[in-house]
Amino acid sequence: MAARPHLTGYTRDELAAFFAELGEPRFRADQVFRGLHERRLTSFDDMTDLPKALREKLNESATTSTLTVESKYTSVDGTRRFLMRTSDGNPVEAVFIPTENRDTICFSSQSGCALNCDFCLTAKLGLLRNLTAGEIIEQIVLVLNDVYGAGGETPHGTNLVAMGEGEPFMNFKNLIKALDIMSDEKGLFIVPGRITVSTAGVVPKIHEFAALERRPNLAISLSAANDELRNKLMPINQRWPVDELLAAAKAFEKTLKRGERFTFEYVLLGEVNDSVEQAEELARLLKKHELRKVKINLIPHNPAEQLEYRPSSPEQVLRFKEVLEARGVSAYIRTPRGRDIYAACGQLAAKQEPNLVQIAGR
Ligand code: SAH
Repeated sequence: MAARPHLTGYTRDELAAFFAELGEPRFRADQVFRGLHERRLTSFDDMTDLPKALREKLNESATTSTLTVESKYTSVDGTRRFLMRTSDGNPVEAVFIPTENRDTICFSSQSGCALNCDFCLTAKLGLLRNLTAGEIIEQIVLVLNDVYGAGGETPHGTNLVAMGEGEPFMNFKNLIKALDIMSDEKGLFIVPGRITVSTAGVVPKIHEFAALERRPNLAISLSAANDELRNKLMPINQRWPVDELLAAAKAFEKTLKRGERFTFEYVLLGEVNDSVEQAEELARLLKKHELRKVKINLIPHNPAEQLEYRPSSPEQVLRFKEVLEARGVSAYIRTPRGRDIYAACGQLAAKQEPNLVQIAGR
């Protein structure tokens, strides 16, 4: 049986074309678009502004939801991890991270990941498959509904980060389409300025991304300043080595407007990439490539049994930051969130732990 089309992943124009084929006028398509995105309704039956016959017709020919929330975990720090499944059984994870002045939702672009970074637990899943644009959007709708109530207004300033399972730039087309739909002012209206996409360094896609007219913020996961170490930590470096990656970063930097910056993420692994010399090497690398509109997010390693690394000591983290700053590089130490529920960076591996605090699934 062919799957019914998932209308959450349709742009407003695509939806209009779909309705035209059903013999329905455009304003009905617009109503459904608002229902799905602005009102965040997860079934046609809830769209009571549609005639009953149309709702029935839609139930037969299309669908609004494909993901199911299998479990939900809440951290002592308030972070929530949602473990979802696609209709064909693949895991998808999204994380809600509350902070004092704004909330962030971290979503997945793929189920699993192909990149095999040595310090990341998601790598252990391997790549299961790319998510569709509809599946990407649906994660955010489900999280928003859980946190702010179904159909409730999204507080201004909720940020999105494509830092969940997967490598967003290996699913570029669907990701960009999803972001486009989410930025529609008649829908979720989450504008690109509130979104950050993180890549492990898919160089051709960084160039493609730089050329986009409206695009989100960019973060690049670096974690080592030379090829020898980066080849080991992040095998993608064998395909696109450090100098090529930084040249792409420079090309991207040139397209930034005044006051805009982008980010390098650097996971600090105890006695692997956290020495004073390595901080100096990193500062030299940025200088060599004349990167100025850049900041470094230092991410303390989140350990796990299957990973052979350990976090740097707090003193070493601080020293690393100070060396960078002394050389004119802005660096920020990120506080891990949701470590106790496998929700922190690099911990998303569809973990289902009986000893985690589970709050009713859906
Ligand atoms: N594939 C993309 C998107 C994932 S973002 C990318 O790599 O950028 C996830 C971030 O968590 C990346 O910056 C990654 O380097 C970092 N990370 C992976 N494993 C980690 C771990 N065990 N502890 C801390 N950070 C980790």
